[in-house]
Amino acid sequence: MTSGGDSAGMNAAVRSVVKMAIFRGCEAFVIREGWEGLVRGNQSPDSTPPQTPSVSTSQPTFADTADPKGKASDRNQQTEQSDFVPTYGEGELLREGVGEAQELGLRGRYIIRVGWDDVRGWMDQGGTLIGTARSKTFRTPEGREQAAYNLIINGIDALAVCGGDGSLTGADKLRAEWPDLVSALKSKGRITEEQATKFAHLNIVGLVGSIDNDMATTDITIGASTALQRICESVDSISSTAASHSRAFVVEVMGRHCGWLALMAGIATGADYVFIPERPPTGQEWHSEMCEVLQKHRDLGKRKSIVIVAEGAIDRELNDITPEMIKNVLSDDLGLDTRVTTLGHTQRGGKPDANDRILATLQGIEAVDAVLEATPETPSYVIGISENKITRIPLMFAVEQTQKVAKLIESKDFDGALALRDPEFAEGLRAFKYISQITEDERVPEKKRMRMGVIHVGAPAGGMNAATRTAVRYCLAKGHEAVVIYNGFPGLLEDNVSMLTWLRVDGWATRGGSELGVNRHLPDIDIGAVAAKLQEHKIEGLLIVGGFEAFSSVKILNDNRDRYPAFRIPIVGLPATISNNVPMNEFSLGSDTSLNALVDACDAVKQSASASRNRVFVVETQGGKCGYIAVMGALAAGAVLVYTPEVGIGLQQLGKDVNFLKKRFLLDVKGKSEGRLVIRNEKSSEVFTTEVITKILKEEGKSLFDARSASLGHTLQGGVPSPLDRVRATRLALKCCEFLESEALKQRSSSSSHSSKTGEKSYSDDTAVMITIQGSTICFTAATEMAKNADMKNRRGKTAWWHELKALVELLGGRTALAEL
Ligand code: ATP
Repeated sequence: MTSGGDSAGMNAAVRSVVKMAIFRGCEAFVIREGWEGLVRGNQSPDSTPPQTPSVSTSQPTFADTADPKGKASDRNQQTEQSDFVPTYGEGELLREGVGEAQELGLRGRYIIRVGWDDVRGWMDQGGTLIGTARSKTFRTPEGREQAAYNLIINGIDALAVCGGDGSLTGADKLRAEWPDLVSALKSKGRITEEQATKFAHLNIVGLVGSIDNDMATTDITIGASTALQRICESVDSISSTAASHSRAFVVEVMGRHCGWLALMAGIATGADYVFIPERPPTGQEWHSEMCEVLQKHRDLGKRKSIVIVAEGAIDRELNDITPEMIKNVLSDDLGLDTRVTTLGHTQRGGKPDANDRILATLQGIEAVDAVLEATPETPSYVIGISENKITRIPLMFAVEQTQKVAKLIESKDFDGALALRDPEFAEGLRAFKYISQITEDERVPEKKRMRMGVIHVGAPAGGMNAATRTAVRYCLAKGHEAVVIYNGFPGLLEDNVSMLTWLRVDGWATRGGSELGVNRHLPDIDIGAVAAKLQEHKIEGLLIVGGFEAFSSVKILNDNRDRYPAFRIPIVGLPATISNNVPMNEFSLGSDTSLNALVDACDAVKQSASASRNRVFVVETQGGKCGYIAVMGALAAGAVLVYTPEVGIGLQQLGKDVNFLKKRFLLDVKGKSEGRLVIRNEKSSEVFTTEVITKILKEEGKSLFDARSASLGHTLQGGVPSPLDRVRATRLALKCCEFLESEALKQRSSSSSHSSKTGEKSYSDDTAVMITIQGSTICFTAATEMAKNADMKNRRGKTAWWHELKALVELLGGRTALAEL
């Protein structure tokens, strides 16, 4: 069931739950129109539910859908007494000739048994295809009794609900009341003794579908990253017109109790000021504070001013701060030509981004496992995510914590509210201050100031420029000097360096590629000369942004510290590569941008494959010898097979894959066959190239299916960086700068004291590191440590968290199940 406000990724969640449930041997049903649909159940259009006169069905709270064939009551009968068992090839909806999801809404039927193929093609659809509603009836005891009745007579003993905190509160209520509801139904004779025993327990699991990202206990909710994407697209567009006319824009975004969207959009788009409920300004002081920030930007020559305001923005006295109020202040006090844009429902709309598809898919799988493992003693869980780990949190705890945030805000305990947000939120706030304000307050004393070098190496990746922008502005705020090096290490040798101003990096958050320029040369191009140049430019700390080359560079510099004192400075690498092949690191900058570019391309290819019915597209991806982008792309695009360099391609395997595709196309309902995607990383096999595989499929497919190939090449580097890459770049770059700053200070003090006198080493491996995301922590990992976990020949880690997801692609594509048929 999907319930409450719709969010992108809900369909992917339904698809994943349905497929996994069937795979595990369960029967799967969809419940249309949220809790309202569960209360209504399957009934003839005009009837009221038996023995519950207070439950009204004549005043629907949402538009009823017409029954195109006028056979609703026939179908009601069929559902409750059906001997139809959906299989991998045929779903009830397809069999009934209503495969189009919108036509699910046969009047009077809200609980529908579904098969594997009923959810085919749902991954890339926005909103929720099974409908959602806000149900007054479910809030009443009679409504919940009727809901319980409908679950029992349909034989449903587990429920996965995707919605916001309201929907999940409803779920918890239903579970808490369940024994009483069953007793009441039994004593009224509505269910039998046998049914009461069989359905003594209801297992419920929640998936958080909410664009606001307002659920405490989970880092991100299904739909939030797509909404952020929509907001950033709009603000990016507004920025160009604002700059053209030298205007100010106040942009209102969603978020009644949660400023996540506003804050992250502010970071990602380079906005000047944000208003969020968790960090309200004091009384009227926001007028002068905001005007001071914006005026300083204007004084430097900035032609546009963007203020982002969450719809729940307030001051410390809990008075609303509205876009109109902000506009008036900007117009009256600064004399700016100011416009207000309310993004409204555009934020909810559109197809889900790669992140939401993958999140919803992984959480859907976990949800099915959670209900299957549940016992009467275990609590109901909500499925969350904590820094890339899918988690189970007791549902009621999650709901309570979430509601606590609103209460803390109401009681003016803003620090308390902020503490309940995920770590990214607080760090985001801190980072926003550094990148958006020109301030003298943070300056460190003269003797603590340093010169920090910033260099890009390897290939371009989304977020590199946002990281550099953060480093430059952090240095300016602290009084340090940021020395940027153009064209990598060859550029350093040519003294191609400069110091950038605050305004110079202003638009860099949104720019793709690498403004500094990249190439694959490492410091060993001329190690002695590199040392001499670092010394000449008085670099006291070095930030290297790049992929495997960044790691290799840090390692080479560290390996040469004994020979060259110039390398005994703190050095930190920031992983940025679309291949995501840096060892011991789960995410690199650019991989999200690239994944979205891949998914967009695959959606288009799939559409073409489907239009020509029986066609398989073999799509080739970049990624070097690392299959990350191929596997994650396959998961997000709904590919049926994926080939990676880690696993390779064997003749026997290929034979089985061809047989699977034949079985798959044979099972398709006649005339309703769809195209299918196979994703192949460019380096998966030297023999079984994309061309060879396509030819084999063409030959073997005969009359069943045809095959074509598409190579995505450099398009995968993406154009504009995704908001998540921009935000991640800002957050990680800030941490890198703080690391360099503190290590440089430590080194200064130790070299001026003890160690220099005793001749001891004044540096250690721990100061030549990469910043890495590992599970729920961000760490600084020594290059020496990383080298132990690196497959240097294939330029990737020896292990990676996503390896197991290849099997999931095959499971959701039907390959695993059909192998046994
Ligand atoms: P969003 O984040 O988009 O607001 P939501 O799930 O929080 O999503 P709500 O309108 O709060 O949306 O709740 C959706 C539905 O869940 C309600 O219409 C109602 O049927 C049910 N519900 C909410 N709170 C309760 C409750 N306390 N008891 C029973 N049912 C509830």
